[in-house]
Amino acid sequence: MKSVSHRIPIVVSACLLGWKVRYDGKDKRHDRALALLQGEWLVVPVCPEVAVGLGVPRQPLELVSGAKGVRIQGAGKKGVDVTEALNHYARQIAEREPAIAGMISKSRSPSCGLAVSLHDPQGGILPEKVQGRFVHSLLECLPGLPVIEETDIDEDRKWQAFIDAVREYARHR
Ligand code: SF4
Repeated sequence: MKSVSHRIPIVVSACLLGWKVRYDGKDKRHDRALALLQGEWLVVPVCPEVAVGLGVPRQPLELVSGAKGVRIQGAGKKGVDVTEALNHYARQIAEREPAIAGMISKSRSPSCGLAVSLHDPQGGILPEKVQGRFVHSLLECLPGLPVIEETDIDEDRKWQAFIDAVREYARHR
């Protein structure tokens, strides 16, 4: 196993690591992700929603398209808008962990997912899918950062492509 200082940091949605941080108080532990991360990688767990002060359990969030662009706020127009807070947290992570070379993200999450349902202001679902607000901001800070969702980890070809991209990204930073 490599020493900590030689491992490449990879951000991982904390619920995939078994942390009970989801809105419903549960986790989404992904055993294969945990096994694959042994050894070579330095895991940087993040739960953006908890990091910006939302509790566990909490009201679920959703993405809404409006005059100010895509916002993340309490589902059903209830609750807080945490768009700016998540943007700020993503910038903090990028500054605090400048060697980050990849992310394993939770699919369909309005914070962490890569292709998430988007609502109109009246609550209807729009046809397009967009990035969750945390991962979107992280990619603005770290352009080209390789990101894989847990739903793709079980495909060896996709996992290997991700790892190759992470090594390449780390080499060119
Ligand atoms: S998907 Fe992201 S924001 Fe939601 S519980 Fe998991 S780590 Fe937290």
